[in-house]
Amino acid sequence: MSNFDELKREALLAIQGAESVVRLRDVEVKYLGRSGRLTEVLRGLKDVPENERKEKGKEANALREVLEREIAKCQSQLQDADHERKLAAEKIDITRPGKKHHKGSLHPLTVIRRDIEQIFGTMGFTVAEGPEVETEFYNFDALNIPADHPARDMWDTFWIKGKKLKTEGKKLLLRTHTSPVQVRYMQTHTPPFRIIAPGRVFRYEATDASHEIQFYQLEGLMVGRDISLAHFKQVMQTFLGTLFGKDMNVRLRPSYFPFVEPGAEVDMSCVQCGGRGCSVCKQTGWVEIAGAGMVHPHVFASAGLNPKDWQGFAFGFGIDRVAMMKYKIPDIRMFYQNDVRFLKQF
Ligand SMILES: [Zn+2]
Repeated sequence: MSNFDELKREALLAIQGAESVVRLRDVEVKYLGRSGRLTEVLRGLKDVPENERKEKGKEANALREVLEREIAKCQSQLQDADHERKLAAEKIDITRPGKKHHKGSLHPLTVIRRDIEQIFGTMGFTVAEGPEVETEFYNFDALNIPADHPARDMWDTFWIKGKKLKTEGKKLLLRTHTSPVQVRYMQTHTPPFRIIAPGRVFRYEATDASHEIQFYQLEGLMVGRDISLAHFKQVMQTFLGTLFGKDMNVRLRPSYFPFVEPGAEVDMSCVQCGGRGCSVCKQTGWVEIAGAGMVHPHVFASAGLNPKDWQGFAFGFGIDRVAMMKYKIPDIRMFYQNDVRFLKQF
């Protein structure tokens, strides 16, 4: 008898002391489980003298019921408490001020690239693309810059170590300009056509306010039976005038690029002073904006076109540089620093 009282007292203490549903379950197993304390007692009844067995059995069963009831009660209390805690933790005060979410904006280089594409689009130019990892062939050879040509030094190149392209046996590099797209496009299309090819280019050089190791360039190409530099000047004037929202003058100065003949540096009237002369244009009224020229016969030939049948102009300029002039950004590196204070102005 006293054994049952002792067991009951102990079990009830354990039940009430359980501080979580999991602990309570442990207590249940300890007393009522398959090898629990009370279960053992019930199992031992077969060894009890017959005259006591019935009485003891009754008592044991009664205790079992008490414990089961107590456990059920305790469990429901613990679950209620859990529920309350959860509710308190998840409570939402709808009168509190909301969180402000920062809204993203387009990168200035994306904004200007889209503007540029749109303007050239109105003049019938479509957008062409090429790979950023190029072969030596497309980046140099096909553009009339063979391996031993001193002009190769004009482009400081990131070479890609140990890689050769099976089909051409040429070294790979990060393209130093978007001009390879010209060749790729001419290989797969028949003139007349007019394209622009905006894209990222890479130069292995020290960075400063006007140089980055990567930047964006835009290549342009217009080929037909009788396309001349006069067409180019008109296209450029229309483009710049629309982009800057004012009349722009364009002038060409003779220059040298291996893939054009004749070649020219392209100046536009200074946006800052409108051509009167200021510190930005070093009092000249002109700002250098692009390189251009008539497509070299060797380039036509390497693209599989007969230079006797076709002629056209090609040009290239830095998208970053145009954006710097349009938005008056003093340092090209700002485009690539991901400073939100800078980026959110666009
Ligand atoms: Zn000026």
